[in-house]
Amino acid sequence: AAKGDGRGVHRFYAEAMLEGARSRKRMEEDLRVAVAQGQLRLVYQPIVSTRDAMVVGYEALLRWDHPVQGNMPPSQFIPIAEDCGLIEQIGEWVMRTACTEAAGWPQAARVAVNVSSIQFAKPHLPALVAQALAQSGLAPSRLELEITESVFLNQDQESHRQFAALKSLGIRLALDDFGTGYSSLGYLRHAPFDKIKIDQSFVRGAIGTDSRNAAIIRAIVTMADTLGMETTAEGVEIQDEIELIRNLGCSHIQGFVYGKPMEAADVAQSMSEHGGRAEPVGLKSHRRPR
Ligand code: C2E
Ligand code: MG
Ligand code: MG
Ligand code: MG
Repeated sequence: AAKGDGRGVHRFYAEAMLEGARSRKRMEEDLRVAVAQGQLRLVYQPIVSTRDAMVVGYEALLRWDHPVQGNMPPSQFIPIAEDCGLIEQIGEWVMRTACTEAAGWPQAARVAVNVSSIQFAKPHLPALVAQALAQSGLAPSRLELEITESVFLNQDQESHRQFAALKSLGIRLALDDFGTGYSSLGYLRHAPFDKIKIDQSFVRGAIGTDSRNAAIIRAIVTMADTLGMETTAEGVEIQDEIELIRNLGCSHIQGFVYGKPMEAADVAQSMSEHGGRAEPVGLKSHRRPR
Protein backbone atom coordinates (compact mmCIF):
# COMPACT_ATOMS: atom_id res chain seq x y z
CA ALA A 1 0.00 0.00 0.00
CA ALA A 2 2.93 2.30 0.81
CA LYS A 3 4.22 1.82 -2.72
CA GLY A 4 0.81 2.58 -4.19
CA ASP A 5 0.54 5.78 -2.13
CA GLY A 6 3.95 6.84 -3.35
CA ARG A 7 2.91 6.44 -6.94
CA GLY A 8 -0.28 8.37 -6.27
CA VAL A 9 1.70 11.23 -4.78
CA HIS A 10 4.14 11.08 -7.67
CA ARG A 11 1.32 11.24 -10.19
CA PHE A 12 -0.24 14.14 -8.31
CA TYR A 13 2.96 16.17 -8.57
CA ALA A 14 3.52 15.19 -12.20
CA GLU A 15 0.05 16.46 -13.07
CA ALA A 16 0.51 19.64 -11.07
CA MET A 17 3.79 20.31 -12.84
CA LEU A 18 2.20 19.64 -16.22
CA GLU A 19 -0.66 21.98 -15.35
CA GLY A 20 1.88 24.61 -14.27
CA ALA A 21 3.81 24.21 -17.49
CA ARG A 22 0.60 24.48 -19.52
CA SER A 23 -0.55 27.71 -17.86
CA ARG A 24 2.96 29.07 -18.26
CA LYS A 25 2.90 28.21 -21.95
CA ARG A 26 -0.52 29.84 -22.25
CA MET A 27 0.71 32.96 -20.47
CA GLU A 28 3.70 33.05 -22.82
CA GLU A 29 1.44 32.95 -25.86
CA ASP A 30 -0.86 35.59 -24.37
CA LEU A 31 2.17 37.79 -23.71
CA ARG A 32 3.26 37.57 -27.35
CA VAL A 33 -0.20 38.73 -28.39
CA ALA A 34 -0.11 41.46 -25.74
CA VAL A 35 3.11 42.89 -27.17
CA ALA A 36 1.80 42.72 -30.73
CA GLN A 37 -1.62 44.17 -29.93
CA GLY A 38 -0.57 46.92 -27.54
CA GLN A 39 -2.05 45.58 -24.30
CA LEU A 40 0.92 46.93 -22.32
CA ARG A 41 1.07 50.40 -20.81
CA LEU A 42 3.21 52.33 -18.37
CA VAL A 43 2.15 53.95 -15.11
CA TYR A 44 4.32 56.42 -13.21
CA GLN A 45 5.07 56.75 -9.48
CA PRO A 46 6.58 59.97 -8.04
CA ILE A 47 10.03 60.02 -6.42
CA VAL A 48 10.25 62.84 -3.88
CA SER A 49 13.17 64.75 -2.39
CA THR A 50 13.28 64.59 1.43
CA ARG A 51 14.92 68.03 1.45
CA ASP A 52 12.07 70.08 0.02
CA ALA A 53 9.27 67.61 -0.81
CA MET A 54 9.63 68.33 -4.54
CA VAL A 55 8.99 65.56 -7.06
CA VAL A 56 12.33 64.94 -8.81
CA GLY A 57 11.11 62.19 -11.10
CA TYR A 58 8.84 59.23 -11.74
CA GLU A 59 9.47 55.50 -11.99
CA ALA A 60 7.86 53.90 -15.05
CA LEU A 61 6.11 50.65 -14.09
CA LEU A 62 4.72 48.19 -16.58
CA ARG A 63 1.05 47.19 -16.60
CA TRP A 64 -0.65 44.47 -18.62
CA ASP A 65 -4.41 44.42 -19.01
CA HIS A 66 -4.96 40.75 -19.78
CA PRO A 67 -8.11 40.40 -21.91
CA VAL A 68 -9.48 37.57 -19.72
CA GLN A 69 -7.63 37.66 -16.40
CA GLY A 70 -7.59 41.43 -16.03
CA ASN A 71 -4.69 43.34 -14.54
CA MET A 72 -1.67 41.05 -14.41
CA PRO A 73 1.09 42.17 -11.99
CA PRO A 74 4.64 42.48 -13.39
CA SER A 75 5.95 40.18 -10.64
CA GLN A 76 4.00 37.43 -12.44
CA PHE A 77 4.70 38.10 -16.11
CA ILE A 78 8.21 39.64 -16.09
CA PRO A 79 9.87 36.35 -14.98
CA ILE A 80 8.03 34.52 -17.79
CA ALA A 81 9.06 37.19 -20.30
CA GLU A 82 12.65 36.75 -19.11
CA ASP A 83 12.48 32.96 -19.53
CA CYS A 84 10.98 32.97 -23.02
CA GLY A 85 13.08 35.81 -24.41
CA LEU A 86 10.20 38.27 -24.83
CA ILE A 87 11.76 40.61 -22.26
CA GLU A 88 13.99 42.11 -24.95
CA GLN A 89 11.07 43.23 -27.08
CA ILE A 90 9.08 44.36 -24.04
CA GLY A 91 12.09 46.18 -22.60
CA GLU A 92 12.64 48.00 -25.88
CA TRP A 93 8.99 49.09 -25.93
CA VAL A 94 9.27 50.28 -22.30
CA MET A 95 12.43 52.28 -23.04
CA ARG A 96 10.98 54.04 -26.09
CA THR A 97 7.59 54.68 -24.51
CA ALA A 98 9.00 56.03 -21.23
CA CYS A 99 11.39 58.39 -23.04
CA THR A 100 8.67 59.63 -25.40
CA GLU A 101 6.09 60.18 -22.64
CA ALA A 102 8.62 61.91 -20.36
CA ALA A 103 9.77 64.18 -23.19
CA GLY A 104 6.20 65.48 -23.36
CA TRP A 105 5.90 66.42 -19.67
CA PRO A 106 5.54 70.12 -18.91
CA GLN A 107 8.36 69.94 -16.35
CA ALA A 108 11.84 68.47 -16.76
CA ALA A 109 11.35 65.70 -14.18
CA ARG A 110 13.40 62.54 -14.52
CA VAL A 111 12.05 59.20 -15.62
CA ALA A 112 13.34 55.93 -14.14
CA VAL A 113 13.14 52.79 -16.29
CA ASN A 114 13.56 49.25 -14.96
CA VAL A 115 16.04 47.17 -16.92
CA SER A 116 16.10 43.37 -16.58
CA SER A 117 19.49 41.72 -16.03
CA ILE A 118 18.86 39.90 -19.32
CA GLN A 119 18.58 43.23 -21.18
CA PHE A 120 21.65 44.50 -19.33
CA ALA A 121 23.67 41.57 -20.68
CA LYS A 122 22.88 42.46 -24.30
CA PRO A 123 25.72 44.36 -26.01
CA HIS A 124 23.29 46.53 -27.99
CA LEU A 125 21.56 48.02 -24.90
CA PRO A 126 23.55 51.30 -25.00
CA ALA A 127 22.68 51.71 -28.70
CA LEU A 128 19.01 51.12 -27.93
CA VAL A 129 19.06 53.71 -25.15
CA ALA A 130 20.86 56.22 -27.37
CA GLN A 131 18.24 55.70 -30.06
CA ALA A 132 15.32 56.10 -27.63
CA LEU A 133 16.88 59.37 -26.39
CA ALA A 134 17.51 60.69 -29.90
CA GLN A 135 14.06 59.80 -31.22
CA SER A 136 12.21 61.23 -28.21
CA GLY A 137 14.41 64.27 -27.73
CA LEU A 138 14.67 63.51 -23.99
CA ALA A 139 17.80 64.99 -22.38
CA PRO A 140 20.05 62.08 -21.28
CA SER A 141 20.36 63.57 -17.77
CA ARG A 142 16.60 63.02 -17.34
CA LEU A 143 16.84 59.24 -17.86
CA GLU A 144 17.72 56.87 -15.02
CA LEU A 145 18.03 53.11 -15.51
CA GLU A 146 17.14 50.89 -12.53
CA ILE A 147 19.15 47.69 -12.33
CA THR A 148 19.04 45.00 -9.63
CA GLU A 149 21.96 43.28 -7.95
CA SER A 150 21.38 40.17 -10.07
CA VAL A 151 23.43 41.80 -12.85
CA PHE A 152 26.47 41.04 -10.70
CA LEU A 153 25.89 37.29 -10.64
CA ASN A 154 28.15 36.95 -13.65
CA GLN A 155 30.41 39.88 -13.04
CA ASP A 156 33.03 40.13 -15.72
CA GLN A 157 34.83 42.41 -18.10
CA GLU A 158 31.67 42.76 -20.20
CA SER A 159 29.56 44.16 -17.39
CA HIS A 160 32.20 46.79 -16.61
CA ARG A 161 32.22 47.76 -20.28
CA GLN A 162 28.43 47.92 -20.27
CA PHE A 163 28.32 50.24 -17.26
CA ALA A 164 30.91 52.51 -18.86
CA ALA A 165 29.05 52.58 -22.19
CA LEU A 166 25.75 53.46 -20.49
CA LYS A 167 27.33 56.18 -18.33
CA SER A 168 29.03 57.69 -21.37
CA LEU A 169 25.55 58.44 -22.77
CA GLY A 170 25.09 60.92 -19.93
CA ILE A 171 22.27 58.97 -18.26
CA ARG A 172 21.95 58.01 -14.58
CA LEU A 173 22.10 54.53 -13.05
CA ALA A 174 20.28 53.32 -9.94
CA LEU A 175 20.77 50.07 -8.01
CA ASP A 176 17.24 48.74 -7.35
CA ASP A 177 15.96 46.63 -4.42
CA PHE A 178 19.26 47.02 -2.58
CA GLY A 179 19.82 44.58 0.26
CA THR A 180 17.72 41.69 -1.00
CA GLY A 181 19.96 39.98 -3.51
CA TYR A 182 23.61 39.30 -3.98
CA SER A 183 25.53 39.43 -0.74
CA SER A 184 28.91 40.83 -1.79
CA LEU A 185 29.37 44.60 -1.59
CA GLY A 186 32.62 44.52 -3.53
CA TYR A 187 30.86 45.27 -6.79
CA LEU A 188 29.90 48.74 -5.53
CA ARG A 189 33.53 49.81 -5.86
CA HIS A 190 33.42 49.51 -9.63
CA ALA A 191 29.81 50.10 -10.61
CA PRO A 192 29.06 53.76 -11.38
CA PHE A 193 25.70 54.10 -9.64
CA ASP A 194 24.21 57.53 -8.99
CA LYS A 195 21.64 56.16 -6.57
CA ILE A 196 20.85 53.20 -4.32
CA LYS A 197 17.20 52.26 -3.87
CA ILE A 198 16.76 50.70 -0.42
CA ASP A 199 14.35 47.78 -0.62
CA GLN A 200 10.86 48.07 0.83
CA SER A 201 11.53 45.21 3.25
CA PHE A 202 13.84 47.48 5.29
CA VAL A 203 11.61 50.52 5.02
CA ARG A 204 8.39 48.87 6.09
CA GLY A 205 8.33 48.85 9.87
CA ALA A 206 11.38 51.10 10.14
CA ILE A 207 9.28 52.93 12.69
CA GLY A 208 8.28 51.43 16.02
CA THR A 209 9.98 49.22 18.55
CA ASP A 210 12.25 47.29 16.20
CA SER A 211 15.19 49.59 15.53
CA ARG A 212 17.10 47.08 13.42
CA ASN A 213 15.64 48.24 10.11
CA ALA A 214 16.51 51.83 10.98
CA ALA A 215 20.08 50.75 11.79
CA ILE A 216 20.39 49.01 8.42
CA ILE A 217 18.99 52.02 6.55
CA ARG A 218 21.41 54.31 8.39
CA ALA A 219 24.34 52.07 7.46
CA ILE A 220 23.32 51.97 3.79
CA VAL A 221 22.94 55.77 3.73
CA THR A 222 26.36 56.28 5.35
CA MET A 223 27.97 54.02 2.77
CA ALA A 224 26.10 55.63 -0.14
CA ASP A 225 27.04 59.15 1.03
CA THR A 226 30.70 58.17 1.16
CA LEU A 227 30.48 56.68 -2.34
CA GLY A 228 28.76 59.84 -3.59
CA MET A 229 25.44 58.12 -4.27
CA GLU A 230 21.89 59.26 -3.51
CA THR A 231 19.46 57.01 -1.63
CA THR A 232 15.76 56.38 -2.22
CA ALA A 233 13.68 54.65 0.46
CA GLU A 234 11.14 52.47 -1.38
CA GLY A 235 7.69 51.52 -0.16
CA VAL A 236 7.03 54.36 2.30
CA GLU A 237 3.33 54.19 3.13
CA ILE A 238 2.83 56.13 6.35
CA GLN A 239 3.09 59.90 6.80
CA ASP A 240 4.93 59.54 10.13
CA GLU A 241 7.66 57.62 8.29
CA ILE A 242 8.55 60.63 6.11
CA GLU A 243 10.23 62.44 9.00
CA LEU A 244 11.94 59.26 10.18
CA ILE A 245 13.33 58.49 6.71
CA ARG A 246 14.54 62.08 6.37
CA ASN A 247 16.27 61.85 9.76
CA LEU A 248 17.98 58.63 8.68
CA GLY A 249 19.54 60.68 5.87
CA CYS A 250 17.81 59.24 2.79
CA SER A 251 17.75 61.81 0.00
CA HIS A 252 14.53 60.52 -1.61
CA ILE A 253 11.27 58.78 -0.82
CA GLN A 254 9.07 56.68 -3.09
CA GLY A 255 5.88 55.05 -1.89
CA PHE A 256 2.13 55.10 -1.56
CA VAL A 257 2.50 57.96 0.96
CA TYR A 258 3.17 60.27 -2.00
CA GLY A 259 0.95 58.39 -4.41
CA LYS A 260 0.42 55.10 -6.17
CA PRO A 261 1.63 54.75 -9.75
CA MET A 262 -0.59 56.93 -11.96
CA GLU A 263 -1.75 56.82 -15.57
CA ALA A 264 0.57 58.50 -18.08
CA ALA A 265 -2.11 61.06 -18.92
CA ASP A 266 -2.36 62.13 -15.27
CA VAL A 267 1.35 62.94 -14.81
CA ALA A 268 1.24 66.23 -16.75
CA GLN A 269 -2.01 67.15 -14.98
CA SER A 270 -0.47 66.45 -11.56
CA MET A 271 2.62 68.51 -12.43
CA SER A 272 0.64 71.59 -13.34
CA GLU A 273 -1.71 71.25 -10.34
CA HIS A 274 0.94 71.02 -7.62
CA GLY A 275 3.81 72.83 -9.32
CA GLY A 276 6.05 69.83 -8.69
CA ARG A 277 5.45 69.74 -4.95
CA ALA A 278 4.43 66.37 -3.48
CA GLU A 279 1.44 66.10 -1.15
CA PRO A 280 1.36 63.20 1.34
CA VAL A 281 -1.75 61.10 0.78
CA GLY A 282 -1.05 57.93 2.72
CA LEU A 283 -2.11 56.91 6.21
CA LYS A 284 -1.13 59.45 8.87
CA SER A 285 0.32 56.87 11.27
CA HIS A 286 0.35 53.19 12.13
CA ARG A 287 -2.67 52.14 14.12
CA ARG A 288 -1.46 51.15 17.54
CA PRO A 289 -3.32 48.94 20.00
CA ARG A 290 -4.66 50.96 22.91
P1 C2E B 1 10.46 47.78 -8.42
O1 C2E B 1 11.24 48.25 -9.58
O2 C2E B 1 11.16 47.67 -7.12
O3 C2E B 1 9.21 48.77 -8.32
C1 C2E B 1 8.59 49.16 -7.11
C2 C2E B 1 7.36 48.34 -6.84
O4 C2E B 1 6.86 48.66 -5.53
C3 C2E B 1 6.18 48.62 -7.78
O5 C2E B 1 5.44 47.43 -7.91
C4 C2E B 1 5.38 49.66 -6.99
O6 C2E B 1 4.03 49.74 -7.38
C5 C2E B 1 5.53 49.10 -5.60
N1 C2E B 1 5.35 50.13 -4.56
C6 C2E B 1 5.76 51.42 -4.59
N2 C2E B 1 5.46 52.03 -3.42
C7 C2E B 1 4.86 51.13 -2.63
C8 C2E B 1 4.32 51.19 -1.28
O7 C2E B 1 4.32 52.20 -0.59
N3 C2E B 1 3.78 50.03 -0.80
C9 C2E B 1 3.75 48.88 -1.55
N4 C2E B 1 3.18 47.81 -0.99
N5 C2E B 1 4.24 48.79 -2.81
C10 C2E B 1 4.80 49.91 -3.34
P2 C2E B 1 5.00 46.86 -9.35
O8 C2E B 1 4.58 47.99 -10.24
O9 C2E B 1 4.02 45.77 -9.10
O10 C2E B 1 6.33 46.27 -9.94
C11 C2E B 1 6.96 45.17 -9.35
C12 C2E B 1 8.30 44.89 -9.96
O11 C2E B 1 8.16 44.49 -11.34
C13 C2E B 1 9.22 46.12 -10.01
O12 C2E B 1 9.81 46.34 -8.73
C14 C2E B 1 10.20 45.69 -11.07
O13 C2E B 1 11.16 44.81 -10.54
C15 C2E B 1 9.30 44.90 -12.03
N6 C2E B 1 8.95 45.78 -13.16
C16 C2E B 1 7.94 46.69 -13.25
N7 C2E B 1 7.95 47.32 -14.45
C17 C2E B 1 9.02 46.81 -15.12
C18 C2E B 1 9.58 47.05 -16.44
O14 C2E B 1 9.15 47.91 -17.23
N8 C2E B 1 10.68 46.30 -16.79
C19 C2E B 1 11.23 45.37 -15.93
N9 C2E B 1 12.31 44.67 -16.35
N10 C2E B 1 10.73 45.13 -14.70
C20 C2E B 1 9.65 45.84 -14.30
MG1 MG C 1 12.45 49.77 -9.91
MG1 MG D 1 12.64 48.52 -6.23
MG1 MG E 1 10.99 45.54 -6.11
